[in-house]
Amino acid sequence: MLTHFSDQCALRKPCTQPNACYFWPMPQNAFAHVNEWVFDLDNTLYPPAMRLFDQIEMKMRGFMVDTLGIDDAEANYLRKHYWEVHGTTLAGLMREHGIQAEPFLTEVHDISFDALQPDPDLASLIKNLPGRSIVYTNGTKPYAEQVLAARGLDGVFDAIYGIEHADYIPKPERNAFDRVFGQDGLTHKNAAMFEDEVRNLEVPHAMGLRTVHVAPEPSGEDYVHFHTDDLTAFLRQISG
Ligand SMILES: [Mg+2]
Repeated sequence: MLTHFSDQCALRKPCTQPNACYFWPMPQNAFAHVNEWVFDLDNTLYPPAMRLFDQIEMKMRGFMVDTLGIDDAEANYLRKHYWEVHGTTLAGLMREHGIQAEPFLTEVHDISFDALQPDPDLASLIKNLPGRSIVYTNGTKPYAEQVLAARGLDGVFDAIYGIEHADYIPKPERNAFDRVFGQDGLTHKNAAMFEDEVRNLEVPHAMGLRTVHVAPEPSGEDYVHFHTDDLTAFLRQISG
């Protein structure tokens, strides 16, 4: 199902019948001006049902137990708490415990990619988008390259940006987007961003990007232009 919300939509509510919508009847029209496409990585370029991130969460807990000398229950609480308050668990560990980024990132990304399947349709749709396509993740570039290879998406993107390109400042902070989009030379008004964590779309929306929330359920946030639970189907639709 494709739904949309928009500041251009007079209904101001989730639309479950896009084909019957008079306010934005052709989703591809909303992307006709876009020539730079920004994709988050985890749970965006692969479905959350593949559950890759579960392994990373387990690794984070183990790292925190070993490094902070706390038990697993407290580690799991802090993992989530820091994610909520600081944007990522790593940002909380750096700011509140002086943890170095590199050992943490090396440890938590040492996982199996067997759960990921190649998606040739997605690869071909992204390749055929007009202009440039980039990945921007709160993970690292080397980790992103492994995920993309396992999904058959290697060689599809013009650039890959990780947390290291934002001096370890995470999305959703404005500073992080400024650094990464600045390095890329991105023209905000000609760009679209695809992302599963809805809060990471608020700043891109304020910057003038078209925003697409990729997740099983819509969130209802007014900074989301479109929601889809199927990225491949959505790209096929806007590719006309
Ligand atoms: Mg994500």
